[in-house]
Amino acid sequence: MNSVVVVGGGLAGVRAVEALRGKGYQGELTLVAEERHRPYDRPPLSKAVLAGERDDTTVDADWNALDVRLLLGERATALRPDPGPGSGGTVATTAGDLRFDGLVIATGAAPVTLPGDGAQRVVRTIDDARVLRERLAPGVRLVIVGAGWIGAEVATTAAAKGCAVTVVEAAGAPLANAVGPEIGRLTVPWYAEAGVELRTGVKVAAVEPGGLALADGDRIPADEVVVGVGVRPALDWLEGSGLLVERGVVTDASFRVTDGDGALRPDIVAVGDCAAWWSRRYGRRLLVEHWDTALNAPDVAAATLLGEEAEYDAVPYFWSEQFGRMVQYAGHHPAADRMVRRGDPADKGWGVCWLAGDRLEAVLTVRRPRDLVQARRLIAAGARVDPEAVADPDVPLRDAVRTTAGS
Ligand code: FAD
Repeated sequence: MNSVVVVGGGLAGVRAVEALRGKGYQGELTLVAEERHRPYDRPPLSKAVLAGERDDTTVDADWNALDVRLLLGERATALRPDPGPGSGGTVATTAGDLRFDGLVIATGAAPVTLPGDGAQRVVRTIDDARVLRERLAPGVRLVIVGAGWIGAEVATTAAAKGCAVTVVEAAGAPLANAVGPEIGRLTVPWYAEAGVELRTGVKVAAVEPGGLALADGDRIPADEVVVGVGVRPALDWLEGSGLLVERGVVTDASFRVTDGDGALRPDIVAVGDCAAWWSRRYGRRLLVEHWDTALNAPDVAAATLLGEEAEYDAVPYFWSEQFGRMVQYAGHHPAADRMVRRGDPADKGWGVCWLAGDRLEAVLTVRRPRDLVQARRLIAAGARVDPEAVADPDVPLRDAVRTTAGS
């Protein structure tokens, strides 16, 4: 392999570059990145950057040693794979055509926006965060659409800056899509405590100048509107490439894509927020839009490109900092058949474990980082636990493990 192109200059892109060099790849390496900034971390954007505590989140990488041709501010516009697995292809970009023997697709995701001709802000890039930060002044009426992770984090920061914050959510509870309404409802008091008005079950028809038009004909006036209703993989440039895309780029557990002839391509991998990868652990495809996957999965993608046998089999993990609380989640709960509460949500720290039978499938913790660490290990090991011990917050989770089935 003599020429590798990485498309996308987010965390997954830079980690792919580092992994390729780290594994001894010495050929040409080009990174095509639409943003003009060197790769940076996004999690602080809705937290420390918005709060004005940090301005720079650039990923610490030794670009000289990496010996990469960095095409910042350039976009990939099309992909033309040559027919036949392993035969490479061409990426068309705003800087011209690039031939490749190996390609990493790491174009991440872009925020979904709402209809309407009113100004709506999103928080995806550092530029978005810096602009919004300037608008968050005391008394500003900020309306946030979406009580998901980003909406809650932006509400936290804006309320602390003295804005009059309203969060509008179509579902019946915050975080309902991510963790289910029952758990999401437990976060409702956090909004009131912070002086944020939360309106659930409210459907927005459009963003108009001066505020929101609701589906029921009502209006919510706003000086600023932030939309946090989710993201979509940024894959428009793959149109016509023949690659199998179902929301994300479909890959196997080694991040190999499938081309228009239905063949797995060992020379084209997709990773990070744009990839829907096969999880052997869960027996289904996962599209995980979180930092930990963008950090760790590129190592496997790089190994695959270099012809090594590698599979990604991690337990998904993410965190959120909202309303003064560290919220962490590990696992994947759709297969669970019960939830066990761990501690009282009125207390400082609490959690929830999802079980399938007595196997620990997933955990959510609020200010209980030790539980998270222990549960993550147990989930990875497929451990079986005693639900009664899990329900007792004084019993360390690692001591809730059953050594023999049913014991
Ligand atoms: P991205 O970071 O989206 O990077 C992809 C890059 O590719 C972008 O720079 C994009 O401009 C570029 N690109 C797109 N199309 C093209 C093209 N055609 N040509 C060239 N370049 C292109 N996760 C957590 O686990 N915890 C958190 O607390 C958390 N907080 C977050 C807060 C915010 C505000 C945001 C936005 C995300 C947060 N995340 C968090 C999610 C995490 O940041 C993402 O999962 C991670 O950034 C994904 O990395 P990526 O490299 O796959 O994609």
